[in-house]
This record gives sequence, structure tokens and C-alpha cells, in this order.
Amino acid sequence: MDDQNRVSYETAAESAWPVGLGNGPGRIVLLGPPGVGKGTQARELEKLWGVPHISTGDVLRANVSQGTPLGREAQTIMKRGDLVPDSLVCEIVATRLREPDTLSGCILDGFPRTLGQAIWLDSRLVELGFGSSIIAVGIRMERRHLLRRITGRRTCPICQSTYNVYLNPPTQAELCDMDGATLIQRADDTEHVFEERVRTYEMLTAPVVEHYRALGRFVAVNGELPIGEIAAEIAAAVDVKGHSRCMREIRN
Ligand code: AMP
Repeated sequence: MDDQNRVSYETAAESAWPVGLGNGPGRIVLLGPPGVGKGTQARELEKLWGVPHISTGDVLRANVSQGTPLGREAQTIMKRGDLVPDSLVCEIVATRLREPDTLSGCILDGFPRTLGQAIWLDSRLVELGFGSSIIAVGIRMERRHLLRRITGRRTCPICQSTYNVYLNPPTQAELCDMDGATLIQRADDTEHVFEERVRTYEMLTAPVVEHYRALGRFVAVNGELPIGEIAAEIAAAVDVKGHSRCMREIRN
């Protein structure tokens, strides 16, 4: 990297702190292919920082199960493994960002997924007075590990605990350890849809990584580590003290 670029990265990274109102972690965007553990990490970080986890996928699935007009529009698209239109997901996020619990920060999981969504989010945060407060965290994992994580994934419909029948099974097959509810498998967690979701990720979401990398707001973590270690890596990178580390990652 030449010196000119280095200076512009540092300037961009400097402007990422302080991160908006309050002393929270700011607005964290979790990026990565399907099955990499974005939802799991978002829940870990929500506990750690006490800021809300916003998952556009969860909001869409809730709309599908409630049979709302949004859910009816999104259902077929989601089943195919395609992305629902930017206008719909941006509206979901716009509504959620108006809630006061997002003032000191939030963890966005599954958004932005297109360059259009990323550009919309950047300008929305400026409008809301948060400036350039996003830190994008890319979770990496080898593709051959993703499939088992997707096809083995089960979720408790009551407490949202997640399991994996291969890697992290519940004590009693198909039942939640917390409340005994019958675990469910997402309709799009099949091998066929997985391939489509990976293609969609590579085509539409990979440019979002490049967008944040170019702005000096990107950090990558290793998704193959134990859950707690990944969360600690993310927290360290996002922490003000992790500022220089974030820049080191960007340079590598
Ligand atoms: P997720 O739970 O994040 O894996 O999302 C499940 C599905 O919801 C995706 O495969 C998409 O069909 C849809 N979806 C979730 N978030 C977005 C988004 N930001 N943009 C477009 N579609 C989305």
C-alpha cells in the first residue's frame, strides 16, 4: 500500500471514533457468507455491549410467519435464496433505527447485503447525526465448513437458542435444552438453497466488504474459532483501544 492510501485509511478510521451519541460501540455491521455465525455473534455482542441486535432476516421471517403483506412479498424470494428488494429491507432498518434503544449503538446482522443498501445506510446514519460511525466486521470461514453449519442448524422458536445437529446438538434430539420446545429448521437451510445463497453473497454482498475496506472501516475475524473467542476478537477490534489494531488488519 502506498503512503497516500495509508494516510487516507488512517483518516477514515480516525473519523470512525467517537462513534455517535453515547459511549456504546457504535453501529456494527456483521458481514459474511450464510452459515458463518453472524446471528450467533450478534447475540453474543448484544449481551456484551447491551445494544440491540437487528437482523433483517429475523424481521422478514417474523413477517412471513404472521402472513403480513411484507411477509407474503418476501416469502417466495427467501425460499429461493435470493435477496428481497433493497427498498423493503431499508424501510425495515429505517423504522428500527428510529427506536431510542439504538442511540448508543446497534449490531446489524444481515444488513447491508448490497452496495445500494450500504450507501443508503451511510447516508441514513449521517442524517440521524451519527456521522461515519460504522465498523464492518467480516467473519471468515472456509466454504466446505459452511454447508454442514447450514444444513445442521436448528433454532428454538421460543427462546431463539441455536443448535447444530452435527456440531452442537441439543441434549435430547430436536428439543431445546432451555425450554423443551421442538426445534425448527429454516426453510432456506437446505443444500440447494445454500448454493444459491452463497452465489448471491459472492455476487452482491462481497462488494459491500470492499466498500467498507476502502473507507477504512473494515476488520476481519476468523470464524473458525470458538464462539467466545470470536466475540472477544470482534470486541477488541471494535473497542477504542483496538483502533490501531483495526488499521493493522486493514493494511494486511
Ligand atoms: P438471514 O437470516 O440474514 O440469512 O436472511 C434470510 C433471507 O432473508 C436472505 O436469504 C434474504 O432472502 C432475506 N434477507 C435478509 N436480509 C436481507 C437484506 N439485507 N437484503 C435482502 N434480503 C435480505
